[in-house]
Amino acid sequence: MILPALTEAESPFWRPIKYSLFPPLGLATLAAYLSPDDEIDLQDQHVESLNLNDDPELVIIQVYITNAYRAYKIADHYRAKGAYVILGGLHVTSLPFEAMPHADSIFMGPGEDTFPKFLLDFKNRCPQKVYQSSIRTLENVPPIRRDLIKRHLYLVPNSIVVTRGCPHHCSFCYKDAFFEGGRTFYTQEVDGALAEIDRLPGRHLYFLDDHLLGNSKFADSLFEGMKGMNRVFQGAATIDSILRGNLIEKAAEAGLRSLFVGFETFSPQNLKQSNKKQNLEKDYVKAVNRLHSLGIMINGSFVFGLDDDDKDVFKRTVDWGVQHSITTSTYHVLTPYPGTELFKSMERQGRIITKNWDLYDTRNVVYQTIGLTAEELENGYWWAYKEFYSWSNILKGSMNHDQNAHKLKHLFYSGGWKKFEAVWNFLIKTKSLNNTLPALETVLAKIHFNSAQKTSALPNILENSELQQIVNLNS
Ligand code: SF4
Repeated sequence: MILPALTEAESPFWRPIKYSLFPPLGLATLAAYLSPDDEIDLQDQHVESLNLNDDPELVIIQVYITNAYRAYKIADHYRAKGAYVILGGLHVTSLPFEAMPHADSIFMGPGEDTFPKFLLDFKNRCPQKVYQSSIRTLENVPPIRRDLIKRHLYLVPNSIVVTRGCPHHCSFCYKDAFFEGGRTFYTQEVDGALAEIDRLPGRHLYFLDDHLLGNSKFADSLFEGMKGMNRVFQGAATIDSILRGNLIEKAAEAGLRSLFVGFETFSPQNLKQSNKKQNLEKDYVKAVNRLHSLGIMINGSFVFGLDDDDKDVFKRTVDWGVQHSITTSTYHVLTPYPGTELFKSMERQGRIITKNWDLYDTRNVVYQTIGLTAEELENGYWWAYKEFYSWSNILKGSMNHDQNAHKLKHLFYSGGWKKFEAVWNFLIKTKSLNNTLPALETVLAKIHFNSAQKTSALPNILENSELQQIVNLNS
């Protein structure tokens, strides 16, 4: 089972830590359907050199858009050696005819129903050329083969997914193309999810679900069950789900300490272009303040290059993030992935300027822009990253929090993420990344809000020796 490295993971601007965060959960999920007697080698090229000199009977490769050409080469190599090769993943689902010549079988959509069927066909020597998922359920999925994951090579080995898909339909998102032909949002059984959490060692979890609060009934029961499990966790959710009801309070009570939020754009016209209805007429500042009042840090996602963007969009976006103490920002150049509504609409308008998938990495402009030139867009993108993560803005963003503990957490998290690349590089090379997990857990510790908080939180949080080490490192 192979996850080839994304092309940008080897660019001169490579930030190694970004590609050493999460293990290949999708492949480990499929591995659970193989027999315990099967000899399985799960390789992730982001954290190790691939061994392509073996002679496996079956090769399974996960294909994203910017590893597609590399994946096809690996597939051709193994087919020439006589192995049976299957390809699946987002890119294969979007462009099955491109992938087909490189595979014996291709998989479209999620593999929980089709992969066991394939294994049966394979055993009976009658595998099909195409497996298209249609039955969407996570009932009775076998436990993920986490024993195949080399935990020490990742910063966040405890990543977990308890839902599939998302209830929304943003036009730039891969989700609809991947889940076409069946349900586009469904969840695990709550008991199964809690059992999976229970199997994970340590305290920290990272939910990689597209929208952890997407099904409020499920999320409510999940958080209820997690109370008392002494976990700290990170996840992703939408603005409207943060503002609605009291689910976010329940998440915080269960241990949510940082949230990825897709703000994407401040322009209503851009939101309409993106079909991002869940953000329309929503009070972003109110959502931010609500998260901060619960001690939840924010990773804000922003897209540049939508048709209503002008030259000031970069400064406006960075200033807003700093002013409202967004802990980390992820910026993207708008990218019309094949299979998405955005791609279809741009193709109809003749605006796609290249189909070199290696450039579809959200850093390059691959379409005809409208409000900005391609050069302005790319320069603005890099400027925004540099500016947001300048020490002065990291400090400003930290100091804008009310709580002392939150100021410190912001400083360590944001500074640690972007300002110590050499340290991350060293930890990756010495294969000791996983040793930093206690420090991460400390930064994600709960902030206690009470009347005495403003004076007590700082000494409390500094009592921890791991955090002291980070303070020393910074000074
Ligand atoms: S909310 Fe996020 S995951 Fe859901 S469709 Fe939009 S971009 Fe995709």
